[in-house]
Amino acid sequence: MIKNKTIALIAHDARKSDMIEWVIFNAKTLLNNQLICTGTTGGLIEKALKDYVGNGYVPNVTKMLSGPMGGDAQIAAMVVEGKIDLCVFLIDDLTANPHEADIQMLLRQCRLHNIPVACNRQSADLMLTSSLWGTKYEPSEPTYNKFKR
Ligand code: PGA
Repeated sequence: MIKNKTIALIAHDARKSDMIEWVIFNAKTLLNNQLICTGTTGGLIEKALKDYVGNGYVPNVTKMLSGPMGGDAQIAAMVVEGKIDLCVFLIDDLTANPHEADIQMLLRQCRLHNIPVACNRQSADLMLTSSLWGTKYEPSEPTYNKFKR
């Protein structure tokens, strides 16, 4: 089971209810990890987990800026710095977004740095429950030798 990892969670407006359903479905697992979210998504997730646990519990949710204001870019920078272990990014594929460049940057940095990124709930469920978490599994280093420092 995934534990003590840093998980980025981002959902576009049309996917926020999906994200909250997914978070509650996986709440027991997610509560054992650090969550990094874009602003609005993070606020909703924090409230959902607070209500889920009750008794005044405050979940470990870090809220970056809202996505269109640079939140995706902040999370992309964390991916580059090796600070994100898994990214769940529920993208609205039916609406044009003003911050398309940032969305593509985050996806690209996940691909480039071999960070698992799920863009729908089934992928997210499968990634979250992988039996490789907590084993000696070492992800391979990307082999873009040309650009290595
Ligand atoms: P939000 O950002 O969580 O602040 O709505 C998500 C996004 O649009 O990337």
